[in-house]
Amino acid sequence: MRYVSTRGGGEPRSFADVLLDGLARDGGLYVPEAWPVLPPLADLRGRSFAEIAVAVTWPFIDGAIERLDYERIVDEAYATFDVPEVCPVIPIGTLPSGAPLHLLELYRGPTLAFKDVALQLVGRLFDHVLSLRNERICVLGATSGDTGSAAMDACAGLDRVDAFILFPAGRTSEVQRRQMTTLTAANLCAVEIPGTFDDCQDLVKAAFADTSFRDDVHLAAINSINWARVMAQITYYVTAHLAVRDDDGPVSFVVPTGNFGNVLAGWVAARGGLPVDRLVVASNRNDVLTRFFTTGTMSLAEVVPTTSPSMDIQVSSNLERLLFEVLDRDGPAVAELLGRFRGEGAVSVTGAVLDALRSEFDCGRLDDESAARVIRDVHHRTGLLLDPHTAVGLGVAEELADGGPLSDPEVPVVCLATAHPAKFPDAVEGATGIRPALPERLGDLFDLPERIARAEADLADLEDLIRQRLG
Ligand SMILES: *Cc1c(COP(=O)(O)O)cnc(C)c1O
Repeated sequence: MRYVSTRGGGEPRSFADVLLDGLARDGGLYVPEAWPVLPPLADLRGRSFAEIAVAVTWPFIDGAIERLDYERIVDEAYATFDVPEVCPVIPIGTLPSGAPLHLLELYRGPTLAFKDVALQLVGRLFDHVLSLRNERICVLGATSGDTGSAAMDACAGLDRVDAFILFPAGRTSEVQRRQMTTLTAANLCAVEIPGTFDDCQDLVKAAFADTSFRDDVHLAAINSINWARVMAQITYYVTAHLAVRDDDGPVSFVVPTGNFGNVLAGWVAARGGLPVDRLVVASNRNDVLTRFFTTGTMSLAEVVPTTSPSMDIQVSSNLERLLFEVLDRDGPAVAELLGRFRGEGAVSVTGAVLDALRSEFDCGRLDDESAARVIRDVHHRTGLLLDPHTAVGLGVAEELADGGPLSDPEVPVVCLATAHPAKFPDAVEGATGIRPALPERLGDLFDLPERIARAEADLADLEDLIRQRLG
């Protein structure tokens, strides 16, 4: 399998190159040269999560790693999860339309967020490929909260990796921050930036654009611009389908969305033949995607802090991969569109392109008050506590079931539960009066000392900090 840039530049690259590089040299994102077809569902039924992960993702890797090594790495990655199913599916009743409703629990990994599913694999893949090549990398990433802890956990103690994670001051939950700042491995550094997540992400992009710095320190990306993360997330769309249907009929998925990485993996699964009816993009008040899919216009807006901070994003990087497809893989057209967006703060698509987007995605948004009501209702009805991100998805599902795209009673709906409620205890307690407890293994999080580095939202300042630490 070879990979090309969404902006059309450069030569095709291997999986190992794309894994280590993240962002293409022309500023684009890597996508496979062709979309592989998934194995038939009947062949996957009854197999373990790790076995299905290998079967589903192998075509993306083929040629870069030995199959037996890959099987071992996948096994080790998913052995870190708290439950043998890795990503369990929980029935939670029906939607008002009568459609069966399920939660896909993606938060049973080491840091309690769905990002572990991809990053536990990606960290191990880094290690493997770097030792084959006898190289080192410096991972640089931005986080709105969950990526940081998941990335740092995945990189902790790796011999050939240093990791710098930028987070926006005061905009992550305390649990999220402590999960980053209390890790003790010497190769990890959490960097607080005065600003928003988008400021952090812009700094990361600027560092990657500074080619001499990038080559000097061997920068690698761990944000969901890294293709390997999207790839790893394809697996749970397949396992969820297997869990809610015993035939090849359709399933709809509702995905709380920020950077568009998670829902894009669902799109890749559908593209590979998974029977998906609707893919729903659920946003909080930071609704750039919902506005885009509704009107065809993408316009910059201020980021508003919400109770679901991992979705407080107004520039969704992975949308570029979808735009590349709906623009018929015309790299220069993608570059032109995104250049105009950056320059003018708004850009529109119309006609066939907008139709193509709408034929594949539905969308909805939910404000904090409604998300709190969903948390309260679900707790009353089922005894389950939802985190605020998951609640945004569920609330949007309920709205779209009311005569909308999720109203077919024959199509099961799977809502992706993206974080453990104890990662966002204030929002959950505010909604239900109950403060969710962290799993026992994280019980001492609030007693451990924190290590925080600080940099201005300024590229030179950040580069200094990184060079100094690398020595
Ligand atoms: C990262 C995250 C999201 C958003 O996922 P994207 O892949 O960026 O769309 C949603 N919920 C939680 C809890 C997250 O950590």
